[in-house]
Amino acid sequence: GGLALSERETRAVGTGDSRAGVWPNDPYPAGSGVAERYATLRALLAGELDADALVDVLKDSGLRGMGGAGFPTGQKWGLVRKAEDPVKYAICNADESEPGTFKDRQILADQPHLVLEGLLLGMAVVGAEQGWVFIRHEYGPEEHVLRAEIDALRAAGVIGADACGSGRRLELDVFVSPGGYILGEETALLECMEGHRGEPRNKPPFPGNYGLHGRPTLINSVETFADVPVIVQRGATWWRDQGLGNSVGWKFFAVSGHVERPGVYCVPMGTAVGALIEQAGGVSGGRAVGAVQPGGASSNFIGPDQLDLALDFGTAAEAGTMLGSGALVVLAEGTDLLAAATNVLRFFRNESCGKCVPCRVGSTKAYTLLEGRSSLDDAERARIVELEEAMRKTSICGLGQVALGPVVSVLGLRKGGAAARPQPRPDGAEQPDR
Ligand code: NAD
Ligand code: SF4
Repeated sequence: GGLALSERETRAVGTGDSRAGVWPNDPYPAGSGVAERYATLRALLAGELDADALVDVLKDSGLRGMGGAGFPTGQKWGLVRKAEDPVKYAICNADESEPGTFKDRQILADQPHLVLEGLLLGMAVVGAEQGWVFIRHEYGPEEHVLRAEIDALRAAGVIGADACGSGRRLELDVFVSPGGYILGEETALLECMEGHRGEPRNKPPFPGNYGLHGRPTLINSVETFADVPVIVQRGATWWRDQGLGNSVGWKFFAVSGHVERPGVYCVPMGTAVGALIEQAGGVSGGRAVGAVQPGGASSNFIGPDQLDLALDFGTAAEAGTMLGSGALVVLAEGTDLLAAATNVLRFFRNESCGKCVPCRVGSTKAYTLLEGRSSLDDAERARIVELEEAMRKTSICGLGQVALGPVVSVLGLRKGGAAARPQPRPDGAEQPDR
């Protein structure tokens, strides 16, 4: 059943309450099985729900991709649906590996039925017979949960050669990542599934047109797919009403760092950074906030003067950072911010696939300059700013584009000003949400 809107803020829950069924977004009663769930999929396959109408609901809902970039989901589904090819595929990207990010892991553990129903809806809407969950290899328990749910679906005839008695074939499988952060980048993921070295492709073409084996491929992340059956069942208006202010829907966040209760929280989109920190018990040891990365390791740090920031794609970008992968990392006052940002850079340097020279060489140069340093002189600052700009403008994937962003944002904070603002792109296009 639906939640009364007045209840919604008090029902936002954290890890302590994360038993299956208590999450505020789930339309299915706690403890129900395959027979009661997958109602939206059954309706679609029975022809009671129109595929174009479903895409319109997603467009109306304002749902955006929760992998981090926030691409409009309805638009993506519409594009892949329209792509003309007899063979298409769908993939759920569960290769969540951004440092500080673990909310998809909780969703997979607690709501595999929503993730798989969303993926199956996507397959049915775009016209794919085969779908995969591409999962991070460290997520063994969640892989087990998924495989058990897929087995239950097959046993109940929900998937298979005659899915739900519709005459349509829908098959699901789990593909375990061989490891490596860059494989979460969707085109590196595709290369990996094709048996090649896991390096990102140049985009465009986007996977929606040219994906796995060159076929149109619908790729969304775990949280995005899980949101779809919720939205279709409860309606676009309901979803929009769940957000605060101009924001729409529920949002899962992994909160970590210097907080009393690190964990996964499901809150209305648009919740303020400070309010989410409070929900996680406040800064540990009663200290003040020193800085926050609101969107995982790739996001620029914001200062204690920005705790009113509403967590949403647009507002985060306006504040010079990004919502990103739903990972709020809190650093208490007194933490060496440059050391923290350098630590993030070290991660990116290690995980760079090496395909582009600016990312491969630039991340190493910058790390060599920053390692073990607690301050920089003006010439060194200028060098870092120059490297950041070169990497942002010339790297082909997000890793190289953002690797030095957190460092530069910390240098801005340390100068006593606000975090580094996003720079206009040379082509005049809007700054992406990163
Ligand atoms: P992107 O903007 O290139 O693409 C986002 C999605 O929209 C992709 O699926 C892409 O195919 C699609 N898309 C974009 N433009 C399109 C168009 N014109 N037509 C059709 N489809 C289009 O971003 P990205 O590089 O895929 O992702 C970057 C984000 O990933 C960052 O914001 C970061 O937060 C996030 N990230 C997440 C993790 C994690 O573990 N969850 C790790 C690293 C990065
Ligand atoms: Fe590889 Fe870095 Fe280039 Fe991305 S930006 S493709 S990680 S070298």
